[in-house]
Order: sequence, then C-alpha cells, then structure tokens
Amino acid sequence: MKFQWWVWIALLAFGTLGEAVFASSLEYWKFNPDLSRLEIVTDTAVRPQVQLIRNPTRLVIDLPGIDLNSPRTSKSISSFVREVRVGQFNRQTTRIVVELSEEYSMRPWEVQVRGLSPNRWFVQFPKFLLTSSYSLPDDAIAISVREVKAAPITGLVVVVDPGHGGRDPGAIGIGGLQEKNVVLSIALEVAKILERQGIKVIMTRGGDRFVSLPGRVALAQRYNADAFVSIHANAVERSQSGVNGLETYYYSEGYNLARSIHRSILNRINIGDRGVKRARFYVLRKTSMPATLVEVGFVTGRIDNRNLARASYRQQMAEAIAAGIIQYFR
Ligand SMILES: [Zn+2]
Repeated sequence: MKFQWWVWIALLAFGTLGEAVFASSLEYWKFNPDLSRLEIVTDTAVRPQVQLIRNPTRLVIDLPGIDLNSPRTSKSISSFVREVRVGQFNRQTTRIVVELSEEYSMRPWEVQVRGLSPNRWFVQFPKFLLTSSYSLPDDAIAISVREVKAAPITGLVVVVDPGHGGRDPGAIGIGGLQEKNVVLSIALEVAKILERQGIKVIMTRGGDRFVSLPGRVALAQRYNADAFVSIHANAVERSQSGVNGLETYYYSEGYNLARSIHRSILNRINIGDRGVKRARFYVLRKTSMPATLVEVGFVTGRIDNRNLARASYRQQMAEAIAAGIIQYFR
C-alpha cells in the first residue's frame, strides 16, 4: 500500500505528540459546595497561577508542568458555582476554570489560595458571594497564592530503615523487581521529607549495601531514636499475583506509630488494606523506641508490582509514610 503525503504528515504529527512525556499529573480535584472550597491534588509539587476574570466572573487556575491525564471534564456544582471545567490548556499546563452563576461576583481579595503541601492546594471562595452588580476591572486580576508552612519539628531523631541491601536482595517479584531497590528509593525520599520538617534522620543504609539486623538495631539504640521505621516490600509465591495490599507491623510500643503511617497511606494511595498487625520481627522486638515495619505492597502482586515499579508511585508512598510519621509526632 502506498501512503499518500497527508498520511505521512498525520503520522509525523502524531509521532511528535507521542513524544510529549509528562512527568507529573493531576491526581484529583474536588469542589466542596458546603465549604465553598476547591481542593487540588497533584502527584508532584506545583505552584498554581490564579486569575480572576469577569463576564462571567470566573477563577482560572493554571497548573504549570501538570498533565491532566484524562479527558477534559466539566461539572455543574451549585446555584452559585455554575460549573468547574478541567482541561489541558497547553502541553505543559492543566487549566481549571471555576465559573460563577451569572447573578454572582466576588472581590479578588476574598479568594484565598493556600498550599497545605507542595502538591495539595485549596482555593477558598468567599462564604457570601456578591451580586453581579459588583463589577470587576476589565483585565484579569492575579490572585496571590501562598504555601502554609507548618512549624518545624525539632529535637526528634527518626531511624529510617530500608530492608535488605547488598548481597541480600529481599523479595524478588514480577519482572525481577527487587525489594531492596524499591524500599531504598522510598526510604531516601522519606528521609528527605522528614529532614525538611526539621527532624534528624538516621538511615541504616543510604545505598545498596548489606546491613545486619543487629547492626540496624544498634544504630537506633546508639542515637536513642524517637522512632524506628523499617520499610519492606511483601512477597508470596509467584503464582499468587492476586495477593496485593498494605500491611503495617508493630510489636509493643509501636502501635500508634504503625497506625498513623498505615492510615496516612490508605488516605493518600489507592492500595488494598491488609491491616495493622503485631509480629515478632527482630527489628521491632530489639529496639527500645516505638518501632514499626511497613510492607508497602507485594512485589509478587500484579497490582502492587506495577505501582512499585513506578518512581512517581514510590514518591507518593514516601510522602504518605513521612506524613504518617509527622502526624504521629504532632
Ligand atoms: Zn523484607
């Protein structure tokens, strides 16, 4: 078959589009009409750009560097908010438009855009909207955004313990995915996030090297750590790829820490819940501080394996674990 010239052009065009690889995406957005609040969650840090525009009064929220990752949508919300539209503004930017019903308007300074974390933003609309007789200037008005910085936690020491390492690969899953690598990349991220919060972090290993179980415990004891968090990935027989999900373990004092991390993960990540359980793991029994062991999923599980192989998922998992630790101390 002979290709016509226009077929070639079409192929070239699609070929080029196909190369556009987005690192980050919009995880979800939610408009809560009772609180007059829009929540935006992305899978990596973002700094929204927000403008208020008139006729009709609408708030335009651009998320630079964020891919929508789904078809454009629009949703009608309430008698005040006519609709929220979400689309890909250009190749680098997802755009969310919140359009008020025709009868309403609002003052720009009454809109607050706050980041609770670099990837979680709230847009708070005024409780009481004005009638549309309040008219906005012709030009778009930029709304300032600000990140809410929680007070740093100081004086705490946390041991982050990525399981296995070096000659000990831990579990080996589908596609040869090795536990030691998965848990190291998560643990390094957890450490980074905790340090940003002012917590002193001791890692039992920061690279691919073997550390004995007594060596891990000794480190925690030497620093008199306030918490010990061991990160592992689970495995069952290869034939049981239907077994997936999160398990978090404690032995004695670590129950609250385990529960806080477990809940934080379930709140942020779509993963099966296999519960918080008590177990006699060496690092849990021999440490004298609250200690927990998180099994972040099954490298042998069809669902977990696919997720754990993705850097963006491991990043989310790390954020969830770190948030659970911080929550525990707060
Ligand atoms: Zn393990």
